[in-house]
Amino acid sequence: MSIITGKTQLLGIIGDPVEHSLSPVMQNAAIEHLGVDYIYIPFPVKPENLATALDGFATIGVMGFNATIPHKQAIIPLLSEITTTAQLVGAVNTVWRTETGWEGTNTDVIGFLSPLKPLNHNWNTFKPLILGNGGAARAVVVGLAELGCPEIAVLGRDQDKLAQFKQSWYNSELTASITVHSWDELSGLVSESQLIVNTTPLGMFPHTDNSPVDSHIWGKFPKNAIAYDLIYNPSPTKFLQEAQQQGLNIIDGLDMLVYQGAAALEIWLQKPVPGEVMSQALKDYLFPKQAS
Ligand code: NAP
Repeated sequence: MSIITGKTQLLGIIGDPVEHSLSPVMQNAAIEHLGVDYIYIPFPVKPENLATALDGFATIGVMGFNATIPHKQAIIPLLSEITTTAQLVGAVNTVWRTETGWEGTNTDVIGFLSPLKPLNHNWNTFKPLILGNGGAARAVVVGLAELGCPEIAVLGRDQDKLAQFKQSWYNSELTASITVHSWDELSGLVSESQLIVNTTPLGMFPHTDNSPVDSHIWGKFPKNAIAYDLIYNPSPTKFLQEAQQQGLNIIDGLDMLVYQGAAALEIWLQKPVPGEVMSQALKDYLFPKQAS
């Protein structure tokens, strides 16, 4: 690690808990690579201390920080401004200091889109399916609408939550229409869908034998369809392994994690950030036996 001096600038992440966060690993790797005088620190902040923490950060000159569970929504009223993206998602994960207070955005959308954008598909012909309707699904919806998908189908297990999810986009600037479906409608929807995104935690380490879908659905997708799992450990998940066996293209959640972080660091440093350095640092940390 570089030497910390009296001039070193503070960045960090707030959460409760925060000790499992991978952000310090990848952010400090990028900081080191760039040779800038910054350090990125995990800050455990209880919900009841959020406002006090922000005041304290302003007092000690923290330049910016990420917010994770449970602060992503609760922090919004404490900020002087948030971006349109953060308004649409309804959550903030990146905050920076301005002359008038703290400003926030949501870089999960950039992270989610990072492996999709280079594919240059005719996204306006896609009818994506999203499994799950929690916080990450909101960033996925906003990202897919930004790509140009006109209609997005969201599947969930709780009808009340699904109805709330759909209603939350009424009168918003979202350019896509949202349909909501119960889990048992999945097999009827897949033949017209070129993209399926898992936003549930099913299949995440250590429960690697789980998958949100039955293996028989994969044969029903159109040729060249894409299966995208937001989970990054393990990689690939059972969901992605079974999709790949049936000829689908697969994307895991590592790039999303890396590029939401890279986008945040670019905001704080106002300079390009080496995503590949962050990605390698994460892989070395998560999968040390496979590290090159
Ligand atoms: P969340 O807000 O808790 O939402 C989880 C969703 O999954 C909810 O809709 C939940 O349904 C559903 N779900 C949970 N268990 C289920 C089950 N057994 N069967 C069916 N549905 C189930 O969590 P989140 O923040 O959206 O995160 C979801 C996943 O995305 C996690 O695995 C997380 O690690 C991953 N993620 C990855 C990145 C990345 O950078 N790669 C970023 C964000 C999130 P109910 O509401 O009915 O419980």
